[in-house]
Amino acid sequence: MSILKVSRLGNPVLRREAQQVSPELLASSRIQTLIDNMIETMVEYHGVGLAAPQVHESLSLAVIESHGGRGDIPLTVLVNPQITVLDEELLQDWEGCLSIPELRGRVPRYRKLRVNALDRFGKKLEFVAEDFFARVVQHEFDHLMGRVYVDRMPDFQTLTHFDEFQRFWMPEAQ
Ligand SMILES: [Zn+2]
Repeated sequence: MSILKVSRLGNPVLRREAQQVSPELLASSRIQTLIDNMIETMVEYHGVGLAAPQVHESLSLAVIESHGGRGDIPLTVLVNPQITVLDEELLQDWEGCLSIPELRGRVPRYRKLRVNALDRFGKKLEFVAEDFFARVVQHEFDHLMGRVYVDRMPDFQTLTHFDEFQRFWMPEAQ
C-alpha cells in the first residue's frame, strides 16, 4: 500500500463531478488498490474522510472513518453514494479539509440523512447517518459533486487558520 498525493484547492480535479464507478471497474485490482491506498492516506493525514478526487481520481468513491474526537464512525467505503435528507435542520460546526490545508471554518449541514451506496465489493449499502457522521458524509459527497466546504459557508467570518483556531476558537469548539 502507499500514501497518495493529495490534490489541493485550485486543482481542477476538485471541481469536476466525479464519474460513476461501474461494477467491472470496482472489481478491478486497480480500484481495489486505490481504495486501500485511500484508506491508508486518510489515516496517515489524520483525516476522517477522503474522496477520490482528492487523490486525483475523478471517481465517485469515498472513504470515511473516525475514532474518538467528535464521534466514532466505523470504516466505511462509499461507492456511487446518493443521499436523501431526512431532517432539514441545519447544524453549524467546524470543518477542515485535507485539500485546503491549515484552515477551518463553520459550515451548516443537515442533521440526518439516508445514504445509499455500494460497498467496495459492489454490495448495496443503506444506512442512516446523523450529526457528525451526517456531516462527514455531506462533506465527502460534496467532493464527488465538485464542491468543497468553503462553498457551503454562509460567510467567511469564521474562516480561520489552524493556529488561530486553537488560540481563539477552541474553547467554543469543546
Ligand atoms: Zn474535504
